[in-house]
Amino acid sequence: MELLKTLILGSGPAGYTAAIYAGRSGITPVIYEGIQPGGQLTQTTDVDNFPGYPEGVDGNALMDDLRKQAERFGAQIRTQICTKADLSQRPYTLTFDDGSQVQTQTLIIATGASAKYLGLPDEEKYRGIGVSACATCDGFFYRKKTVAVVGGGDTACEEATYLSGLAQKVYLIVRKPFLRASQAMQDRVFANEKIEVLFETNTLGLYGEDGVEGAHLVHRKGEADERRYDLPIDGFFLAIGHNPNSEPFREWLEVDEIGYIKTQGQTPRTNVSGVFAAGDVADPLYRQAITAAASGCKAAIEVKNFLDEHDL
Ligand code: NDP
Repeated sequence: MELLKTLILGSGPAGYTAAIYAGRSGITPVIYEGIQPGGQLTQTTDVDNFPGYPEGVDGNALMDDLRKQAERFGAQIRTQICTKADLSQRPYTLTFDDGSQVQTQTLIIATGASAKYLGLPDEEKYRGIGVSACATCDGFFYRKKTVAVVGGGDTACEEATYLSGLAQKVYLIVRKPFLRASQAMQDRVFANEKIEVLFETNTLGLYGEDGVEGAHLVHRKGEADERRYDLPIDGFFLAIGHNPNSEPFREWLEVDEIGYIKTQGQTPRTNVSGVFAAGDVADPLYRQAITAAASGCKAAIEVKNFLDEHDL
C-alpha cells in the first residue's frame, strides 16, 4: 500500500493553503479534492473580503489561483473521495470511493461543510429542477421568475438579496417571528421591495409537473392559529446552515454535537496525534475563507514539526 508523509483531504482555502505551506517546507503534499473541488467558494461569485484584492475577486478564480500556487510547490492533486478512515494506529489508513487505500503518517482534514436540507422527500424529487442550496450557482436560471429562500440567517438574507437582482419576486420563508441575521443584512432585506418575508412559516412540500411550480406552506401563530396555503414559485432555495463533512472520522475524533471536529486551543491538533483539522470542518464559529486558510497554514506547520519530532 502507498505510504505518504502527509495527506490533505479537501481543496478549499484550508486544504490548498496547507499544501502551499507543506510544499514549501519540503514535504510533497498529496491532496484529495473531495466532493466539491475548490470548496464552497466555487459556488459564489464575488469574494469581497479576502485580503489582497481591493476590487474583490471571483470565487472560482481565487480557488484556481490557490490550486496553481499549491501545484507550484509540488502538490499532487487526486480526485477520489475519502469514505473511511482507520485512525487507530499510525500510519493511518484511508479508504476512498473507488476502493483504493492509502497510508499516511500525518493527516490534515480540511473537508469543509455542506449545505443542509429540510429533509422533505420533495427536495430530492425536484433537486436540480427547482430545488437548490446555492443561489449564486443557480440563480441565473430564475431571471424574472418567482423564487423562495428558506432560512432567517445571514446566508438566507444574502441569498435572497442576490436573487432579487435576477428574479422578479423573492419570498423569504422564516420559521420564527424574527430574523437571526445581522442587523445590516436585515436592513437590506427589509429595504428591498422585491423581497417579502413570510414569518412563522414552514414548508410542508413542493408541487409541480416537470419542476417546481409551488410550495405547500403552513403559517402558524401559536397552536390555535394555523393556515395552510399554496404559494406559486419557480425555484426553492435552501439557506438553513451547513453540516461539517466529518463522518468518516467521527469514530476516532472528538466532535461537537453537530459534528464539527474539536481542536485543541488555538491549534488545529485533534485528539489523535498527527491528525489535524483545518477550515470549516472544525469551525462552527467563523467559517470564513481567510480563517480557513489560516488554519490550513497552522496545520501544515504542525505537520512539519510532527514529522521532524518523529524522525519521519
Ligand atoms: P445560521 O445557522 O445562522 O442560520 C440558519 C437559519 O436557518 C436560521 O434562521 C434557522 O432558523 C433556519 N433553519 C434551520 N433549520 C431550519 C429548518 N429545518 N426549517 C426552517 N428553518 C431552519 O446559518 P447561516 O448559514 O445563515 O450562517 C452561518 C454563519 O455564517 C453565521 O454565523 C453567519 O453570521 C455567518 N455568515 C456571515 C455572512 C456575512 O457576514 N456576510 C454571510 C453568510 C453567513 P432559527 O433562527 O429558527 O434557528
